[in-house]
This record gives sequence, C-alpha cells and structure tokens, in this order.
Amino acid sequence: MFMQLGGYEVDILVGGYPGKSLRHGGLGWSTVALLRGHGRVAVLDTGSFGLRRYLLQALRDRGVEPGDVTDLVLSHLHYDHVVNWPMFSAARITVGEAELRWALDRPIGDPLVPEFYVRPLADHPRLTTVGEAQEVLPGITAHLAPGHTPGHLMFLLAGAERDLLLVQDAAKYRAELVSGRADMTYDPAVTAATIRRIWEFWRRKPGTVVLPGHDLPMVLEADRPVRMGRQEAGIIALFGEDVADRTLFGLGPAGA
Ligand SMILES: [Zn+2]
Repeated sequence: MFMQLGGYEVDILVGGYPGKSLRHGGLGWSTVALLRGHGRVAVLDTGSFGLRRYLLQALRDRGVEPGDVTDLVLSHLHYDHVVNWPMFSAARITVGEAELRWALDRPIGDPLVPEFYVRPLADHPRLTTVGEAQEVLPGITAHLAPGHTPGHLMFLLAGAERDLLLVQDAAKYRAELVSGRADMTYDPAVTAATIRRIWEFWRRKPGTVVLPGHDLPMVLEADRPVRMGRQEAGIIALFGEDVADRTLFGLGPAGA
C-alpha cells in the first residue's frame, strides 16, 4: 500500500513514466491508482493499450478482481487513460461533463481521443458526469483542471493531516509542476493557471502528496517537489537467437 488517508487505502497499480519513445509514438505509460474505503473499490484511470494483463495482475496481487471494482474515475479522455474501461463490468464510471462533451465532438481519427472507446461511454448505463467541486466518492472532490484537455479533472482526497491530490495529466510530471509549462497544451496560459491552482492545493497542508499522470508521487520539501520511491521502468529486448536471450534496458533517471 502506498498510503492511507481519509478512510482510504491508496495503492499505485501502475506508476506513470515521464518520457516519450523516439520512433514509436507516445509511450502512454500513465498512472493507475486503486482506492479502497467507505465500502468502495475505486480505480483512477485505466492506463493504455497493452496494459490489461499487467493491470489484471496488479489488481489480483491486492486481492481485487475487475468485477469487484465499484467505481472507475476518469481524469480525461485520452487513450492512455481510458481504453481499459470495459474491464470493469460492474463499475459506476465518473467523467467530467465538459470532457465528455469535448471528446464526443472530436473527429474520428483524432490522434489522442480513442473514439470507439469514448462513444459507448456516453450511453453507458452507470455513467455519471461531474463538474467543479462535485463529490465523486465519499471525501473525494473533482476540480476542473483544463489545459491538457478542456474538461480535464483533478481529484482531491482530503485527509485529517494531509491531502492527496490526484492531478493526472493536469501536470504530467515533475518538470511541468516546477516550470508551470507543459509540452502538450491547447493554451499555455490555461495550463499555467491550472498548475498554479495545483500549487495552492499542495501548499495548504504540509505533507500533501501530488500524484501526477506520468511520474511518481511527490511531496514538498522546502517548497520543492521531491519524488517518493524510485522509477522502475524498463524494456526487455530480444535481440539474440533464443527467446531466453534477453537484455534489460533500465529506463530510470541517469545516475540512479
Ligand atoms: Zn493525456
């Protein structure tokens, strides 16, 4: 378990990764979190294509079957955060009202919105759409965090002493939090305002954790974001003459 607050046990099922591939499109290695408490089993975002077997195992390692998940909360409707929603057959699905409207309006063939996963969401029998300051789960509120997409939501889990702010792609990784700039934004001024808002939430209570969509969780030390834990990403390459010939390329930070 990563942390316990506000009546929830929080696990990071899949850690986000701050990076891009050189010649194979977006990596889309995004954060997936599990929150258990108040009688609910909630998953935040679903990760990308190719993740299903890993995600299934990460859930089972914690004694959870996909059918046990009562709530799926989506930050925004990019492919690397939503395409695995069909795994959670019993879940109530929560998405931003403005985000859904925006995504449904994207033309077929959009580079980032997975149209054939988004359209059925609109007619999903257990879909809930939310806006600013609405409660998505007991003690967890949604807040508008536009810039990356127009209807992006972040979520505040309020604890007694510190909070957990689930920002996903409102600030994808540490560099965006520190610089106030993002490398994917439809309007840099809107992104900058959202990142300022994240900092306001962050500084309210000492020890508050921010969990970004493509990085490790972070806390503030002397007002600087410090990553918690270490990055465990890598690629197993098969360049040899036997399937047992494997080369591991670690993708951690230089010098780590
Ligand atoms: Zn995104």
